[in-house]
Amino acid sequence: MDFQTYFRNYPDKNGRFGPYGGTYLPPELVPAFEEIDYAYQTICRSARFINELRQIRKEFQGRPTPVYHCERLSRSIGKCQIYLKREDLNHTGAHKLNHCMGEGLLARYMGKKRLIAETGAGQHGVALATAAAYFGLECEIHMGEVDIKKQAPNVARMRILGAKVIPVSFGLKTLKEAVDSAFQSYLENYKDSIYCIGSALGPHPFPMMVRDFQMCVGIEAREQFLAMTGILPDAVTACVGGGSNSAGMFSGFLADPVDLFGAEPLGRGTEPGDHAASIAYGKKGVLHGFESYLLQDEKGQPLPVYSIASGLDYPSVGPEHAFWKDIERVKYVGITDREAVDAFFKLSRFEGIIPALESAHAVAYAMKWAKEHETGAIIACCSGRGDKDVDYVIEHYGFGEEFV
Ligand SMILES: *Cc1c(COP(=O)(O)O)cnc(C)c1O
Repeated sequence: MDFQTYFRNYPDKNGRFGPYGGTYLPPELVPAFEEIDYAYQTICRSARFINELRQIRKEFQGRPTPVYHCERLSRSIGKCQIYLKREDLNHTGAHKLNHCMGEGLLARYMGKKRLIAETGAGQHGVALATAAAYFGLECEIHMGEVDIKKQAPNVARMRILGAKVIPVSFGLKTLKEAVDSAFQSYLENYKDSIYCIGSALGPHPFPMMVRDFQMCVGIEAREQFLAMTGILPDAVTACVGGGSNSAGMFSGFLADPVDLFGAEPLGRGTEPGDHAASIAYGKKGVLHGFESYLLQDEKGQPLPVYSIASGLDYPSVGPEHAFWKDIERVKYVGITDREAVDAFFKLSRFEGIIPALESAHAVAYAMKWAKEHETGAIIACCSGRGDKDVDYVIEHYGFGEEFV
């Protein structure tokens, strides 16, 4: 396939990446998503919108984030060179703000006054609350009561930023119910509100829109690496939860002779419920309004998922990744909790960078790749910083004596 024309053809006008993606919604919600699709096609491709977003990225978010050469980590492994794209240095400490600022700006152009979303671990809620504060919009975050208890610091951040956190008290009181609750609120309020998805998934146009808003990560990384070394890297890797930081990173290199690796969370094993490796162990199915690989039981119900990194434990994956897997443009690999924790400590000790446990999955794969190759360079996307994970890690693994 000629990847120069890829972005013109995928997704198609029905929001499909080959057999994946699309729009699976109750009929009442269809007009709301069509409105977003129309607005995206007209507003987000205008020079005015693009220039304004570019300025926000520079002055508010602090972009471009650097590409950094991990010399000591690389030397500890062998002759290959490991580089990081430092999304942990993006404002709020992770890549999620890239699409939240795009979604917030779109809401303002559309004349909406409220952003609505769900959140699981709270990272998306914090990023969206930040965007809402910046644009002077109301923000309504639906969150399961179980998650509210577990993620107190993020709930506090959202409230400080002025968001309304709506506790969801039915079912298992976690992410799935929060999605249902947020959809319901959107249905009742879509005239003056916009729904903001937290990853490159959901009904069309979100997989495309979030990918496009995240593409700055890959485009910058490519330019920066070229400026540093004069050549392209041999490989690029990023962790895959819903698939937004990876979609942004990979998009920048899709047309190049560069190997792309998505790191899926293999948790504590391969049994159902012990991991969230949706591409490796899932089958085609529909969840939350789109079709993709889905970890499901015989009846098509989503299976429970687990990962040490709460940002990665989702039973499906953005539809474009399912497509990239099938056409063999991206290879998806599994990283266990233990390998991620090892990378968490090694990157901290060798480079002075404490990564998010999500990002540690990408770093772990970069270390594996470096062990398996004689020479060459790999860039890993460091999607976020690890401050949020420090308490959990020291409680379960001490200060890493067994790793470094
Ligand atoms: C949410 C999150 C992820 C996973 O989300 P994607 O949509 O797969 O990128 C990865 N890293 C960090 C730091 C996160 O907060």
